[in-house]
Amino acid sequence: MQPMVFLHNIDEQEAQLWLQNLKLALATEDIYLASQLSKEKAASVEVAIVANPDPSELASFPNLVWVQSLWAGVESIVESFKRVNAQRSGNAIELVRLIDPQLATTMAEAVLAWTLYLHRQMPEYAQQQRDKQWRQLQCPTADKITVSVLGTGELGQAAIQALLKQGYQVNSWSRSVKEIEAVQGFVGLEQLPQMLAQTEILVCLLPLTEETKGLLCKDTFQALPKGAKVINFARGPIINHEDLINALDNQQLAHAVLDVFETEPLPVSDKLWQHPHVTILPHISAMTNVETATQVVAQNITHYHQSGELPVTVDLARGY
Ligand code: NAP
Repeated sequence: MQPMVFLHNIDEQEAQLWLQNLKLALATEDIYLASQLSKEKAASVEVAIVANPDPSELASFPNLVWVQSLWAGVESIVESFKRVNAQRSGNAIELVRLIDPQLATTMAEAVLAWTLYLHRQMPEYAQQQRDKQWRQLQCPTADKITVSVLGTGELGQAAIQALLKQGYQVNSWSRSVKEIEAVQGFVGLEQLPQMLAQTEILVCLLPLTEETKGLLCKDTFQALPKGAKVINFARGPIINHEDLINALDNQQLAHAVLDVFETEPLPVSDKLWQHPHVTILPHISAMTNVETATQVVAQNITHYHQSGELPVTVDLARGY
């Protein structure tokens, strides 16, 4: 039996929880920490399971074939993977990210919850309560509200279905053409302004790549109708936060729900904390579920050992 390695740079208690679950789900496999493997044993490792790994550690495994990340977003390791692969004499190491249906369900639930929060004017009523003000606001029905979802991947597709079920008009935006029943699809930068112009609530579920970094900026906000609202559940650097604050201050945007930030935890000095039209969440829209994620990882590894087939891998050049 070839040993497997678990490379992590996470809290020790969290790492132990993962290791326990992985060992239970992969009872016939030998899973080690890097420190437990001799040089000879390390040379026989084909599969690594990783959580925020130190990329230099990958070089200690000359016969590594693929790496299973425990996270859905892999932007923090894509660049280091490219560097490690460029320096390797053998095969390029393939990267597999977590694709867990439970994660998509959890994200869809969050998108629906926070869309309803904006649609049903909860930030406005919270402010009215602070001001001891009794005022009934007009509220359109869901079918009069267009929610546009940036990204139609594993999470975007699940979110779109939840929004449709609730009765919203839904637009989607992706890099390649997607046919989704009852959804108006837009593709590429060229069609983005057209979609933004017909958006009341913009939901970001894009991966962070060279192309998406800073995508939501002054120009994007200007292209939205005045008073539009934004939800970012993807990655912090996709939004230019200075531009966001300006757009909120000049009322181009009415509210932003932010779950992700360039620096996490969000520094206490950050202006976003105090902004009256920003809702801050501590990266909780879809947290990895150790139990279900472990099952996905175990299935991927078992299938590889039985068939030699790798799960769907990340396109390192594309960045997701
Ligand atoms: P995915 O399956 O890889 O889907 C990505 C989607 O984005 C695809 O539809 C892709 O278009 C589209 N896209 C990528 N680059 C684009 C571009 N330049 N222009 C237009 N569309 C582009 O990813 P996922 O599993 O849905 O996850 C999305 C992101 O959510 C992750 O990368 C992660 O950062 C974030 N996330 C956040 C949390 C949280 O708790 N806040 C939890 C999990 C994940 P194509 O379909 O045409 O390729």
